[in-house]
Amino acid sequence: MTIKAHERYSRQVLFPGIGAHGQEHLSSSRVAIVGCGATGSALSSLLARAGVGFLRIIDRDYVEPSNLQRQVLFDETDAAESLPKAVAAARKIRSFNSDITVEERVADLTPENCAELLGNVQLIMDGTDNFETRYLINDFAVSQSIPWIYTAAVGSYGVAMNILPGETACLACVFPDSPTGIVETCDTSGILNSAVNLVASISATEALKLLVGAKDKLRRTLLSYDVWTNDHAEVSARRPRPDCRCCAEHNFVHLAGDGRPHITLCGRNSVQIHERHRPVNFAELTSKLSPHGTVRHNDFVLKFFREPYEMTLFPDGRAIIKGTTDTAIARSLYARFVGS
Ligand SMILES: [Zn+2]
Repeated sequence: MTIKAHERYSRQVLFPGIGAHGQEHLSSSRVAIVGCGATGSALSSLLARAGVGFLRIIDRDYVEPSNLQRQVLFDETDAAESLPKAVAAARKIRSFNSDITVEERVADLTPENCAELLGNVQLIMDGTDNFETRYLINDFAVSQSIPWIYTAAVGSYGVAMNILPGETACLACVFPDSPTGIVETCDTSGILNSAVNLVASISATEALKLLVGAKDKLRRTLLSYDVWTNDHAEVSARRPRPDCRCCAEHNFVHLAGDGRPHITLCGRNSVQIHERHRPVNFAELTSKLSPHGTVRHNDFVLKFFREPYEMTLFPDGRAIIKGTTDTAIARSLYARFVGS
């Protein structure tokens, strides 16, 4: 231990809501954070600095220059190396708190790996940017009675809600179906970093309350706050909806993975392919691809540039193809250069 715990956490222990006892609870707590972009970075940073003893950071993506405006755990070197966000986040956290355990998982959360990635934790934090993954977290969390905290930010507003299975409303109680039509995303509407940090701070504080056992202090509403217009609203989420598919009927359709595509759009003009687990050898693939475009790799990702496309491949064979939203083009590029 580089800094004694009582010194590191002294100012937090002084706060009566935490105290020495609460700090001990935090150090023995286990939390999973799904998605380590803007909200996930801020949540991870706050919980790691607060002394949550075990953090599992799950993210499918890699660091890019456009992330640096708001994703507080990353720096220019991470973007230059296209480091997976989970790897870069864990490195950064270890540099400011070596007393806690951080487990990085470079993966897309799916029905198949949900139990492994989200098991054995007391709390799940949402740092994702899409409803598909949030419904999956919700199904898993409700089925296993694990609390989770929904956190989202886009444009100038943030939204947060605590989900305590068996007590409060779940995500499907409030949003029975995924929003349809044009859904705003950070890629289409932009995002203010202050909206991210506001809502992440609110959710991280709710996490601390839950982990130290201050359940009476937990907010039981869906909260939204716009930092630009100053509009804010709260909707009660105190009780589950009696006809909720998820928490009343226990119909976990997202966990069952019915009809879940293995090729998905993932924002910013990209398609993700994760059709099967196919370990790839980066050195072999580099020599195979060199005649066809620019290739470079490190231990974590292989990048293949072939105008107008850019393929990022992970060691398990998952790929993100940038430069198209046409899944057929992405699939044929993958088949041609990686294998069908
Ligand atoms: Zn529900």
